[in-house]
Amino acid sequence: MRITVIEDDDRVARGLVTVLTQAGFEVHRVATAAQAVRAAPSDVVLVDLGLPDGDGLDVIRRLRDHPQTAVIAVTARSEEHERVRGLRAGADDYIVKPFGVPELLARIDAVLRRTRAARAHAQADEKLVLGPLRIGVGTREVTVDGTPVSLTRKEFELLLLLARRAPNVVSRDVILDQIWGATWESSSRTLDTHIATIRHKLGSNVAIRTIHGVGYRLLADQPELTG
Ligand code: CA
Repeated sequence: MRITVIEDDDRVARGLVTVLTQAGFEVHRVATAAQAVRAAPSDVVLVDLGLPDGDGLDVIRRLRDHPQTAVIAVTARSEEHERVRGLRAGADDYIVKPFGVPELLARIDAVLRRTRAARAHAQADEKLVLGPLRIGVGTREVTVDGTPVSLTRKEFELLLLLARRAPNVVSRDVILDQIWGATWESSSRTLDTHIATIRHKLGSNVAIRTIHGVGYRLLADQPELTG
């Protein structure tokens, strides 16, 4: 399960990342509303309502379009009235600082139970179509011009990440962080190998361009979400 923590206070964020990682979640931390908007989809998002560059409520409203993502608003005791606004904006739950780890984990479990059906449904149905390339997110089936392509788990995750961001460049750091997580320092060469393999398997009708010093971009038609 992937959790995004949106928290500007580094000390609080470090504590959250530590306990959530220990609890078995894949944790991604961002410090601003702007970064939150660019972050990859998560199963759970913890939104601090007091963000320096914008309103956490705006972040929550944007997430309303993602029923498979559970949203928990985080407020300080002094902002208690804010929690009502958080719920109205679309948060599934809220938690008031300071809070204990057991309460946080219990609330996360509860919202995940409520969004489980939406997650299963969204994943089972989602298809990404980019020109000749077709990716079934739930079924993990990939075809190019109708011909099935067999990918390993990492290759599939990597292709899906590039496809979701296409035609934008995805930086090496983002890829390593999201696909290989904590072990990314040892995975930089592995990334190049995976890209080479995926290129070979997809054939010449789908292009993965190397943007030197930056990362990779998948070139095909604009992605079109169906289902
Ligand atoms: Ca704050």
